[in-house]
Amino acid sequence: MRVNIIGAGLAGLSAALTLAKDGVECNLFSVQQSERAQSVMAEGGINAVLDTMNEDDKIEYHIKDTMDGGANLADPNAVDGLCRNAPDIVRELEQLGVPFSKNEKGIVQRSFGGQKKKRTAFVKSSTGKMMMTAMIDAVRQYEAQGLVYRYPHHRLEDLIVRDNECCGAVLSDFFTGDVYEFYGSVIMATGGMNGLFEEMTTGSMLNTSDAAAIALERGVELANLEFIQYHPTTIAIQGKRLLISEAARGEGGRLYVKRRGYKWYFMEEKYPELKNLMPRDVVSAEMVKVTSRAECDDQVFLDMTEIPPMIWDTRLSDLREQCVNYLNIDPVSQPVPVSPGIHYFMGGIRVDEEHRTSLSNCYAAGECACQYHGANRLGGNSLLGAIYGGRIAAQSVLKYADRDALYRRNALEDVPAQNVSPNLSKRITEILASSLQIIRHEVTLNNSIHEIKMLLTDDINSAERRRLHLAQAVLLSAKSRRESRGAHKRTDYPEKDDVNFHKQTVARMNGDEVEITFLDIPERRE
Ligand SMILES: Cc1cc2nc3c(=O)[nH]c(=O)nc-3n(C[C@H](O)[C@H](O)[C@H](O)COP(=O)(O)OP(=O)(O)OC[C@H]3O[C@@H](n4cnc5c(N)ncnc54)[C@H](O)[C@@H]3O)c2cc1C
Repeated sequence: MRVNIIGAGLAGLSAALTLAKDGVECNLFSVQQSERAQSVMAEGGINAVLDTMNEDDKIEYHIKDTMDGGANLADPNAVDGLCRNAPDIVRELEQLGVPFSKNEKGIVQRSFGGQKKKRTAFVKSSTGKMMMTAMIDAVRQYEAQGLVYRYPHHRLEDLIVRDNECCGAVLSDFFTGDVYEFYGSVIMATGGMNGLFEEMTTGSMLNTSDAAAIALERGVELANLEFIQYHPTTIAIQGKRLLISEAARGEGGRLYVKRRGYKWYFMEEKYPELKNLMPRDVVSAEMVKVTSRAECDDQVFLDMTEIPPMIWDTRLSDLREQCVNYLNIDPVSQPVPVSPGIHYFMGGIRVDEEHRTSLSNCYAAGECACQYHGANRLGGNSLLGAIYGGRIAAQSVLKYADRDALYRRNALEDVPAQNVSPNLSKRITEILASSLQIIRHEVTLNNSIHEIKMLLTDDINSAERRRLHLAQAVLLSAKSRRESRGAHKRTDYPEKDDVNFHKQTVARMNGDEVEITFLDIPERRE
């Protein structure tokens, strides 16, 4: 057998490594080389209870912080596995050569949002780049052994589905235009749905969202699409948003707004325990609230001037460089103007604890999958989820797929790859942006739903239809969740409603219509 992994960021590499270690072949497809996957952009770190900071940290606390941060919407059994495996994952990364920042006691850990202990291991402010370098190297050994076949510059065009089973994937080669069917199990590792929000995200625009749209069209269920994380400290730069990592607040950065001319450290006043490090959904919503008050200015600042020079040199050097290069602001001496920007998609392809999707023989891992983060992700849990999820997805393929299945690749004649036109892509962003802000309301959601419906009646190609259906699924999910929870806050339903909505939102195609239902969260096993 040969497994088809779509996506070569951390989740895809982790899946490839797991399969190869078991002697199983895989194809590793991606729109660009791994070196350009979004995973390299991660700055702040990866969470694991190593307890190197004398804080008596425990795995149970990591589980609790993750569940609480996600407003209890994650699968508790999956979160259990994630947190219990985290220490080994970090140690394995270290063995692969990730140069985690250390002191005499071992790996140093920093504070990150929504966590009551210092639990985030890091490599200065280039954690993702260093983890990817090590993982790319590790996978390369198996490329040399003929176990991993790389296909960079290949784009997913379709999934092959027969009798409700995924039999493979269709991919096009950017350079030749050739289109091939690749038969075998599929692991989706295609990252977040950034393409739905052009110029509004901190993430990579190589992640167009079309993989999720293809999955939806082919009968795969998506879940929790309404939970879109706005990171509190971002800045608009040309074509995207620059992230000021949460590490900056973890190391002492403070948020303030001018109130009647004086600095008001609003997070510290309202949340004396976690202060500026409350979960991202809370901080972003507070920023919206304070800047809309009459007595306050409309700009929040991140003040990092109290961070000691040694910390800048040893832990935040890349971040300082970014501020100087992109903003012409030296954060060592000047506060930085920040506002919330889209950063992460908690929702995506619905998977169970074993990373199986609703379509047999199709698995998903990493940011494209909906699993560990519930209604809001904690910083540092995504790198962890990508590595752990990729591994579990691969283990499930090894468990369930037929190892003796013959591998086959088939060239398709005269199948032109379809693209979403730039104008339509932009228009979809405008429509989504008008109603999927941090604070939402049914009236604006209904307007957006109507506008997407109108676009579906235009003369559009199949890629455009899929993208519109995905946008519709996000909006309908947001409309159907009539409560406020985590990253989904509504003025018309301002309270959390555990009686009706302690559930996953599930989106699927029913004929040509998007259908939304709700699914209970599994009970935690003893
Ligand atoms: C600026 C920034 C900082 C971050 N910092 C942190 C942090 O400190 N800690 C943390 O835990 N998380 C952080 N995150 C989040 C984290 O980086 C990502 O969630 C994680 O790396 C996702 O990994 P992935 O493997 O799922 O996806 P990605 O790394 O995004 O990889 C996706 C892969 O899929 C491929 N692909 C996409 N679409 C297609 C298609 N249609 N056909 C074929 N291939 C396709 C891409 O080419 C790529 O290879 C940060 C994110 C950003 C943007």
